[in-house]
Amino acid sequence: MNLSEQLSVTAQRNPSKDAYIFQGQKVSYQEFDASVTKFASRLTELGYGRHDHIALVSGNSPLFMIGLYGALRAGITVIPINPTYTADEMSYILKNGDVKAVITMDVLLELFEKMDDQLEVYHYFTADTGSGIDLNNSSLSPKMKSFTNVLSEGKLDYAPPSLDSEDTAVILYTSGTTGKPKGAMLTHKNLYSNAVDVANYLQISSEDRVIATLPMFHVFCLTVALNAPIMNGGTVLIVPKFSPQNVFTIAEEYQATVFAGVPTMYNYLQQTGKDQVHTFSNIRLCISGGSSLPVALLESFEKQFNVRISEGYGLSEASPVTTFNPLDRPRKAGSIGANIRNVENKVVDELGDEVPVGEVGELIVRGPNVMKGYYKLPEETAVTIRDGWLYTGDMARVDEEGYFYIVDRKKDMILVGGYNVYPREVEEVLYNHPDITEVAVVGAPDPELGETVISFVVSSNPSINEHALHEYCREHLAKYKVPSRIEFMEELPKNTTGKILRKNLREKLAQS
Ligand code: AMP
Repeated sequence: MNLSEQLSVTAQRNPSKDAYIFQGQKVSYQEFDASVTKFASRLTELGYGRHDHIALVSGNSPLFMIGLYGALRAGITVIPINPTYTADEMSYILKNGDVKAVITMDVLLELFEKMDDQLEVYHYFTADTGSGIDLNNSSLSPKMKSFTNVLSEGKLDYAPPSLDSEDTAVILYTSGTTGKPKGAMLTHKNLYSNAVDVANYLQISSEDRVIATLPMFHVFCLTVALNAPIMNGGTVLIVPKFSPQNVFTIAEEYQATVFAGVPTMYNYLQQTGKDQVHTFSNIRLCISGGSSLPVALLESFEKQFNVRISEGYGLSEASPVTTFNPLDRPRKAGSIGANIRNVENKVVDELGDEVPVGEVGELIVRGPNVMKGYYKLPEETAVTIRDGWLYTGDMARVDEEGYFYIVDRKKDMILVGGYNVYPREVEEVLYNHPDITEVAVVGAPDPELGETVISFVVSSNPSINEHALHEYCREHLAKYKVPSRIEFMEELPKNTTGKILRKNLREKLAQS
């Protein structure tokens, strides 16, 4: 079984159930499955098949869902790309990923036109987003094909090629902090197994309506808010762009039952949602992942919205989920939860030996969800996957009940005069301060100590000063962990997934 076959099974079981709702338009599983077949049939007719790569450059929309499942049904490998990337970032992935066709939106055509002569792309399947660009205009490149026309030319009597579960279904380019992005190759088996395991673990049923506001090109949304609901016939509520108001409106209008977000989203929802609590009245589960959810935020959000947040953990290379806080056992605040079914996590030392309970080491993962490797990078693959275990680069500890706790990224650790400081610990303390709404901690070079701790904060109280925050940190942290400098900012830099970019803060420090 693979994702595309599972969609057909779901459609047979629940033909008239809403597969997704987008801008008020409800699309049933039968209609969704038919569009997927039509698109797949056209792709096959145009000569695309196994071993071809197609890029999917789109915001959250039906285009993304039909494009993804359609290409997978035709056996094509899909490379989802962040549509806000610059021409340089985009063209690197299109070239490195050997992309032969692109599924995209009219508003991006100009960008693709500029780089087309450096690429080997034969078609741009383009959706009309209502921007006013006429996709039937004959002056447009013949490579450009209107997505609507392509769909209408597709056939329903189409026999999809049989897929090998070890074939690469999706290549996800991970934004490495150094060097160029690497393409994590996820097989049909990887994606399918994680979607099934996540759906079961979170007890996603056909009664669920899941808010998809995280970007669909990111694996967190892809598996948790798209593929997992599709496994069991749930409805995907597509939010094209995250804003607290968009989420509240959709949650209320369609009685959403599941919300998936990164911690910064919870922060925004909480800050702006005091009079919106009723919109979450049908939400049975909030899922957090992507970065650490500060315990203070978890507790205050749960209290305000009267919901439960289950934090999980994952990474692109593992399709992505490896742990979640279980629904049938106690939820532990600050923990990423325990192994999901079929996946093993372990905390190891530098030599790869398991460390005792409570001790910090690197988190490693094994299971059917672990990628086959990085595209065209066998050496990087060999460093990351050793003896069948994926080395995550995250430092963690486990308790006696098998719950894991992320301490921090290995490379974010700060070494102050020989002592290890994990930014997260300092951040958690500052998050507990009532006037602090966002915080990020990084290390900066120091001539005496090697490194020193620097904190960037966003505060809701304009009269708070650095001295007061220093005093506060001194009360709660050992001396070497107390930030030597606390800088106030209007907003912290974040990527499109909402993760705070410590890398940019380090660069800011280097330039100052
Ligand atoms: P990505 O491949 O973009 O999904 O990023 C994966 C990385 O996000 C992981 O290696 C972790 O560093 C981080 N991450 C994901 N979930 C969590 C979590 N719950 N707590 C802390 N870090 C997380």
